[in-house]
Amino acid sequence: MEFYRDTWAEINLDSIKWNVKKTISELKPFVDLFAVVKANAYGHGDIQVAQAALEAGAKGLAVAFLDEALKLRNSGIKAPILVLGASRPEDANIAAEHRISVTVHEVDWLERVQLKIGQQLSVHIKCDTGMGRIGIKTKKELLHITNLILQTKAFLFEGIFTHFATADELKTNYFEQQIEKFQELLDALPEKPPYIHCSNSAATLRFKGVGGNMVRLGISMYGLTPSTDIAPMLPFQLKPAFSLHTKLVHVKQLNPGEKVSYGAEYEASEKEWIGTLPIGYADGWIRKLSGQDVLINGERVPIVGRICMDQCMVRLPKRYEPGTPVTLIGRQETEEITMDEIAKKRETINYEIPCIITSRVPRVYIEGGKVTSLSNPLL
Ligand SMILES: *Cc1c(COP(=O)(O)O)cnc(C)c1O
Repeated sequence: MEFYRDTWAEINLDSIKWNVKKTISELKPFVDLFAVVKANAYGHGDIQVAQAALEAGAKGLAVAFLDEALKLRNSGIKAPILVLGASRPEDANIAAEHRISVTVHEVDWLERVQLKIGQQLSVHIKCDTGMGRIGIKTKKELLHITNLILQTKAFLFEGIFTHFATADELKTNYFEQQIEKFQELLDALPEKPPYIHCSNSAATLRFKGVGGNMVRLGISMYGLTPSTDIAPMLPFQLKPAFSLHTKLVHVKQLNPGEKVSYGAEYEASEKEWIGTLPIGYADGWIRKLSGQDVLINGERVPIVGRICMDQCMVRLPKRYEPGTPVTLIGRQETEEITMDEIAKKRETINYEIPCIITSRVPRVYIEGGKVTSLSNPLL
């Protein structure tokens, strides 16, 4: 596949594999790693990341909803896939048909599931131990659900899990309370399923995957810290997989008093070189990033004026040739603009940044140090 614009994201699959392998080496040998590839693998590209993670030793994949799981299955991936969110009970037969495991989050859901004769649906029970999102809260609900599951061959009791609300925070009391509640529910189980899991990236790396025999690794597989607070506690150096690049498309000199972009808010105070970049808010490079630095020739230069839908402008220290590479996220020589720097500027978390780099931005995949594939969702 081709693309015809000078803005692209590079996804380094070697970094994904490194992060997965290093994480597995931190875990006890009986703990399986499931790679969380929901939301198009946090904007990185679900199929490519899933394949890389599986090659690196992940035993399965997890996504948010059924359509995401079907996309992976239809691409030929044979590994176990778990849907973490709530699916519609009337779609359970589609999950069963494609050997996709789903989450049971309430008694009602299980009662409304309709399967075709002979079908078997693998289920994981979700316990709400303090996230307040989906899942059952009491032993009574748990026993009701397990009885329903165990009394028919139509259901395979494959797992039980919960999700932490504060595993990435310095204070651990709420996290410990959640573990305690989960343990109480586990103690009430009439029969233990093959998989018991609770750890996201933060719990996996900080506490070596507390509780159970499976972890769900999301953000850290992409080489990003679950929070800046716990970055110093991570057991190894994560390698970020995502970088964002463009090229200067136009360079011109402004005279003192001349203006840049909508609202004419930025005014040249002296003779200034202004470069235009072909990236804007429709690519996910939102207006809040005005003032943010980008890298050119290994140096930081600021975005000036308002960011437009498809373009933005930078102030250059000197004239550069159009076509000169510009890095918006990533490294050039000794300078680096991290996902965390962009997240801070946008007053959000690093998770959000690659997720909202839109499908207009082609993804270029690097493996073994070489470009191995391209994806241009526009074509
Ligand atoms: C998204 C998600 C994860 C992955 O969390 P990270 O913090 O990205 O590792 C794990 N479990 C559930 C239920 C999720 O929704």
